[in-house]
Amino acid sequence: PTQPYDNANIFAKILRGEIPCNRVYEDEWALAFEDINPQAEIHTLVIPKGAYVSWDDFSARANAEEIAGFVRAVGMVARDKGLVEPGYRLLANTGVHGGQEVPHLHVHLFGGQPLGPMIL
Ligand code: 5GP
Repeated sequence: PTQPYDNANIFAKILRGEIPCNRVYEDEWALAFEDINPQAEIHTLVIPKGAYVSWDDFSARANAEEIAGFVRAVGMVARDKGLVEPGYRLLANTGVHGGQEVPHLHVHLFGGQPLGPMIL
């Protein structure tokens, strides 16, 4: 990875239960909770339970079980929220150019409204 994993990042603290979150889904591989500053009617974050900085780190180091578990969890959250028929958007900001602020991999799940064309 481009940077070592920082155990003090805010999502690590959420995973350890040190700070609260509005949890919507949890299993062996993933935790999902509502974004504290929502950018759409539905704005949920899904994070792997393992210590991965980013999409790059996860895709390079995670084992097949972790990857499958995480990908399935993202789909599960979208289904649980009834987003399959209307549709939704996934986003994983990565690194400096990606504008990633929290250095624990998270996938943004947006929905609940027409999101329009993809914007940067
Ligand atoms: P990034 O820019 O890293 O892709 O997105 C980080 C996201 O985490 C932002 O949408 C921000 O609102 C959200 N966020 C930051 N701190 C917290 C927090 O303490 N709790 C929750 N639920 N979301 C947070």
